[in-house]
Amino acid sequence: MLAHYAEHVSQRQAECKLPNELLLLVKEYIPLADLRTHVCYYHTCKTVASFYGDNSQQAEFWRRSCTLAGIGWLKADSSWKEIAFETIAKDGFCSHPRCGGALLDWNAQQAELAMRKYNWDPEEGAWDAMLDPEDAREWTVPGHPIPIFNPIFQDIKFKSEHLPPWFHDPYDAKFRVNDPDAPLTYVRQLSAHPVAIRSLATFPSVRHIKFHAITLGHEHLFRNLMGLTVWDIVRGFQSDLDRELSITELLNLLSGPFADIFRDRSSSDFIGDLERFSTLRGLWSATRWEGAYFLTSNGEGPVFMPTFIRLPPAARDSKGSESSGTD
Ligand SMILES: [Zn+2]
Repeated sequence: MLAHYAEHVSQRQAECKLPNELLLLVKEYIPLADLRTHVCYYHTCKTVASFYGDNSQQAEFWRRSCTLAGIGWLKADSSWKEIAFETIAKDGFCSHPRCGGALLDWNAQQAELAMRKYNWDPEEGAWDAMLDPEDAREWTVPGHPIPIFNPIFQDIKFKSEHLPPWFHDPYDAKFRVNDPDAPLTYVRQLSAHPVAIRSLATFPSVRHIKFHAITLGHEHLFRNLMGLTVWDIVRGFQSDLDRELSITELLNLLSGPFADIFRDRSSSDFIGDLERFSTLRGLWSATRWEGAYFLTSNGEGPVFMPTFIRLPPAARDSKGSESSGTD
C-alpha cells in the first residue's frame, strides 16, 4: 500500500470499509516520528484524513511529525503540511540506499537520541535557540555529548568544472552512491531529493554552524533560524566554491581539511596544482567529503572540522574530476 502511494499520489480518496474505531486505532498506533506512514495513511481515505483535524490542527500535527522525523524548513517554505506531502510523495520511497525511508529512519533515531542526551525538545526549535552563549560553551566540557553531523554529506559531490561565482547551476550538486551494486534508478541531481536536502544538518538541530579553516571569513553563510538543513549547508558552500582563494586561505585549507591531498605524496606539478586548487571547488573535486567532527563551541554555535579524503587515482580523470560512474 505504501509503495503504491509513492507512484500514485492522488487526491481521489476512496471511502474505507473498515469501522472508524479501527481506523482511528491504527492512526494512534503510528509513531509521530514516522512521517512517511502518516502521510500514506492520511491518503488512504477521506475518513482517515478527517482524523487529522482541521487546518490549524493539521498544521500543528505535520509540524511536529516533520520535526521528529528530522525534516526541516527551507527558506521558501510556507506550510508544514506541504513539506510533509511533497517530501514523501517525491522522495519517501527513494531507491538511493541512503535516502528515502533509510534516511528518515536515521533522522528519527538521531532526533530521539538527541532529545535524551541533550534534553532537547525539537518542537521548541533549534537547540541552540534555547541556550544563552555561556551555556553553549558546555559543549566543550569533556564527556558532554557532542552534536552529530548528518553523514549524508558523504554522498554529495559537486561538478569539477568551475562555474561563474554569480551563477547557480541547479545540477551542480549530485548524489553519489558507493555501492556498485546499488540500484541507480534515482535522479542524481541532489535537489530532486527532498528527504536528503531537508534533513537536519545536525542532531540536535542548530541555527549556526562554522567549519574550521573553511569558514574563516564566511561563517554567515551557514545560518537558518529554523534549524540548519543539509540544503543550507550545500548552498552555503556552493556560493563560495568558485571564489579565488588567497594563498593564505589555500595554505590553511591544505594544512587543515584538505591535508589528505598531499599526504605521503608531494606535488609533481606545482604550477598545475596551484591552478587546479585555486578555488574550493578544485580542492573538493580531488577529494570526497568524509564527515565533520565537533571541534568546539564559540558561544554562537558549534564549530566543526570537516574532513576530506583524497580520491583514488582511478576515480579521477586527467582534469582531476571524478568519473561519472557509480562513484
Ligand atoms: Zn532520494
